[in-house]
Amino acid sequence: MAGGIKKIVVEQGAERFPSTGAILLSVGDVPVSRARGQMQDMVQGTNTDMGKDTLHLLSYAGEFLKPCPGTRNYICCGYLILNVGTNCPLDCSYCILQAYFNLPNLRVHVNLEQEIDRVFEAIDREPEKIFRVGTGEFTDSLALDPVTGWSGIIVERFSMRKNTVLELKTKTANTRALLESTCRDRIIVSWSLNSPFICATEEHGAAALKKRLEAARECRAAGFTLGFHFDPMIPHRDWKDGYRRTVDLLDRYIEPGGIIWISMGSFRFMPALKPIIRRRHRDTCVLDGEFIKGLDGKMRYFKPIRIELYSFLRELLSQWHPDMGLYLCMESHEVWLESMSWSPETTEGLCGYLDQRVRKFFDLCG
Ligand code: SF4
Repeated sequence: MAGGIKKIVVEQGAERFPSTGAILLSVGDVPVSRARGQMQDMVQGTNTDMGKDTLHLLSYAGEFLKPCPGTRNYICCGYLILNVGTNCPLDCSYCILQAYFNLPNLRVHVNLEQEIDRVFEAIDREPEKIFRVGTGEFTDSLALDPVTGWSGIIVERFSMRKNTVLELKTKTANTRALLESTCRDRIIVSWSLNSPFICATEEHGAAALKKRLEAARECRAAGFTLGFHFDPMIPHRDWKDGYRRTVDLLDRYIEPGGIIWISMGSFRFMPALKPIIRRRHRDTCVLDGEFIKGLDGKMRYFKPIRIELYSFLRELLSQWHPDMGLYLCMESHEVWLESMSWSPETTEGLCGYLDQRVRKFFDLCG
């Protein structure tokens, strides 16, 4: 990854954190500039490159643990985001982050190590509650790991927490640091998957599908629990054949008993994302479908299309293994019933279902 980084910006106040020194050391000869204060005045003004070649080190003043924004009027999973940084060096055409953050650059919160104790204070205040925490919402969990050393900072500490699971979600094969660690308890390594066509044409910079599955197999062999996410599903030409091929590959590479959950979601986006995708990804197929505005203001496929996508994949995955912890991301009670034959009914219901999966896979008291 360091090869893709062409510039480093160190914000005032970031120099004093050991992570800054370690990152500067790991990137070698990349030019470094210093910046005073917040970076609004350095926004490039267009969204064309988003500063994906610029690593921006800063001391983050906000909350490190925050609820996943989820979405109104749909059933969400109650996930918590550990905010290690924002923006992503990969460049998926459909990525919502293109419209979500208005500050460019790969922003790395170098005070993570110092702030993490406050995160655990919050977690320890509710020992009865199960915290499902992940770093893969505002960035890819492992894409920058060889440079930032995020996994080295957080995995061991999370692994010692009895009421918490940490999920690292990625489209890369950057698992070296994880494999070198000795921690496995309550750590989930997850891969986002798609049809071979979508992986190859829309997920720019991501590892090839087989490489992701090879990395997952290696993590499983090393004792990690796995998760997978088919999100966003996209009904492209021959999509049924495509998703079937991905499930066939899963079967070839992965032993299903080690999978805690598999989520499914379909492409959805705030209207502001559409012109950005058109401008940045001229050959994309992700805008080819017809969309309607959902109850949360996001554009989605028509309900029968979403139901067909989920039902098809659910059938394939259930044939592969009957107990996969399948769930839908940001869907309605009605779509759950139609495509999954059951519904958790509410966000609380889905949280309870996923907490049960955690209890099944991990010892929460030992
Ligand atoms: S890996 Fe995730 S965060 Fe990174 S560009 Fe793709 S969708 Fe966005």
